[in-house]
Amino acid sequence: MAARVTQVDREAVRRSTGALGVAATLRGLRVTSRHFIRNLWGWMVGKPQVRTVMVPEEEDPKPAAFRGMPVLVALDSGKERCVACGLCEWACPVDCIHIEPGETVDEVERYPRVFDIDMGRCMYCGLCEEACPEEAIVMSARVDISAFSRAGLLWHKDQLLTPASQLARRLAYIREDYGRR
Ligand code: SF4
Ligand code: SF4
Repeated sequence: MAARVTQVDREAVRRSTGALGVAATLRGLRVTSRHFIRNLWGWMVGKPQVRTVMVPEEEDPKPAAFRGMPVLVALDSGKERCVACGLCEWACPVDCIHIEPGETVDEVERYPRVFDIDMGRCMYCGLCEEACPEEAIVMSARVDISAFSRAGLLWHKDQLLTPASQLARRLAYIREDYGRR
């Protein structure tokens, strides 16, 4: 098939987007001002129109179905529940999990010597959680992910380990949702 060539008049495009840009900006400012005045008035008369959560001082409770950052479940002993089977690593569609297994003389012989998740690539799909046979990786309610560099988004095992007590709601939810009772 012959290639179709389209000539673009870049100057005309620039001119038209310039005019549209001004109109869109004014429209946006009108909407913002309307909400600002309405909310300010509501706040002044003691009838707030919007619910405001003063993060980070206040916590915004999330439903159990909410999928935030994936974390590792820590047992009461502080050790990870993970047995380094690698299923979550295999299930992750964006390859952001990296596990290096190790062996111990404990009752559960395998553990993840290295367990990293690149939060900059994670898309919070929850497939790792679904694949895990040990309920060792779960989607937490955490969304506080920020860093000054890409390297800062690589979360290591010690950052991922979260006490099971803090994940109780989500663990109960996935047991029911995945029919694992
Ligand atoms: S939530 Fe999805 S993208 Fe993120 S680590 Fe798990 S499987 Fe990978
Ligand atoms: S988190 Fe679960 S699926 Fe992933 S390696 Fe550990 S036990 Fe296996």
